[in-house]
Amino acid sequence: MILRRMMLPRMMLPRMSLRPVQIFAALIALVAPGLLAGCTTAPATGRTFFSGGMSAEDEARLGLQEHQKIVPQFGGVYENAELSAYIASIGNLLARTSEIPNQKFTFTVLDSPIVNAFALPGGYVYVTRGLLVLAESEAEVAGVLAHEIGHVAARHSAERYGQNVATKIAGVGLGVLLGSKAVSDTFTAASSVALRSFSREQEYESDLLGVRYLSRAGFDANAMAGFLSRLQADSRLQAELANQPGRADEFNIMQTHPRTADRIQRAIAQAGAAPVKDPIVGRGVFLGKIDGMLYGDNPDQGLIRGRQFLHPNLRFAFTVPEGFRLANSSQRVVASGPEGAGIIFDQVSQPGGGTMSAYLTQVWAKGATVQGVEAITINGMAAATGQVSVNGRSGPRDLRLIAIRYDDKTVYRMLFVTPPKLTESLSQPLRETTYSFRKLSAAEAAAVKPWRLVMHKVRSGETASKLAKRMPFPDFQLKRFLVLNGLAENNPLPAGRTVKLVVE
Ligand SMILES: [Zn+2]
Repeated sequence: MILRRMMLPRMMLPRMSLRPVQIFAALIALVAPGLLAGCTTAPATGRTFFSGGMSAEDEARLGLQEHQKIVPQFGGVYENAELSAYIASIGNLLARTSEIPNQKFTFTVLDSPIVNAFALPGGYVYVTRGLLVLAESEAEVAGVLAHEIGHVAARHSAERYGQNVATKIAGVGLGVLLGSKAVSDTFTAASSVALRSFSREQEYESDLLGVRYLSRAGFDANAMAGFLSRLQADSRLQAELANQPGRADEFNIMQTHPRTADRIQRAIAQAGAAPVKDPIVGRGVFLGKIDGMLYGDNPDQGLIRGRQFLHPNLRFAFTVPEGFRLANSSQRVVASGPEGAGIIFDQVSQPGGGTMSAYLTQVWAKGATVQGVEAITINGMAAATGQVSVNGRSGPRDLRLIAIRYDDKTVYRMLFVTPPKLTESLSQPLRETTYSFRKLSAAEAAAVKPWRLVMHKVRSGETASKLAKRMPFPDFQLKRFLVLNGLAENNPLPAGRTVKLVVE
């Protein structure tokens, strides 16, 4: 088992046990928060807040501890020394203009397609490559970094630790089964305390501080509002792609930083920073740095292609029903469906021997009442299924468990979560998902290629819709092209302008 893990570094799959009985342990932990006390003054704001008694040393220690947890949850560090150095140089330039110029900052580009940026206590600041893909200039990225540095300087994360540390750590991952909100939390790796959303006041405060650092460093603060609008456009597109338009802000930076362009404009006005003469924009230099960057999932960690999830390294694939949105994380693959329905997929090391039915009832769902246990065969693999009913935070849920013997060391597990009123109507689509699980041949695995972002100089006669058709997306090509490039539908596309394209 260890050998297997070592052969497959950075595998984005799991050992997280999701036994139904554990839900109740988690619930108990959630209702019994510890009490913390202590007040600290943040250097940037002079405001006194409840910090859980954290000193700067505590913050550094906690930051490092969370850093080590967060990085693997977000796909690890994106290995591109030039890009990393570039992002750090912008970040450090801004940080030196802050109220904490001597604070050591660590800037990390995460190998994740999810659009996000966040900060931890102790000066840890993160941007995902999913966010960088959407940026159009150095000034826009500076806006994101300045805002995050603002959270650090105002010690918002420390404040949040004070409020949350006792309750949240106990609940890691186990709330997953208890409702749509909990399912969606796994998208943003919200098992980490650091990624709970900030309050609107804290967001405003970070914007105020961010504007201050941007102008001191020579950037135009308006880039911050412009980029936010672009991120919102992407958020709406992603929700549309998932056929869940009402849930635009659940899965990304909008959840961790609830902000609006209006409020940023207000912060710019209120900050009263002198307008920067000849502000740095840095479009060309920035686009040069992200030219060739990986786009979407890293195949080493498994790829989402529409409703299909493929893992070329671990050699398997499966397809989720229409209306389900797939998301990959370090612990598991999750698909979120209608009205709190969801699929949680993971892997466990389980040496061969007993039957899958025995595994299902005696190991996975040990202690729970499993009904209708049945031995089945899925594309030649021994498997078992059974049903458990639970009462979760969001009401009763039916769980269907499927355990699949992949090889003599590995079991894959699918857990279908449905509210009882949907259990019947979803049973056929979820059955199809069950039987869609299959092994990939070496040739199929080798054919899975990652997508990359490239820069393209527009030639005369090329239009947005023509260029959009070159990208490998199955649908919404034009819309994706426009959002990727921050363009409106009727924006002219002058020859000679550099645009971003996604290529196979
Ligand atoms: Zn924020």
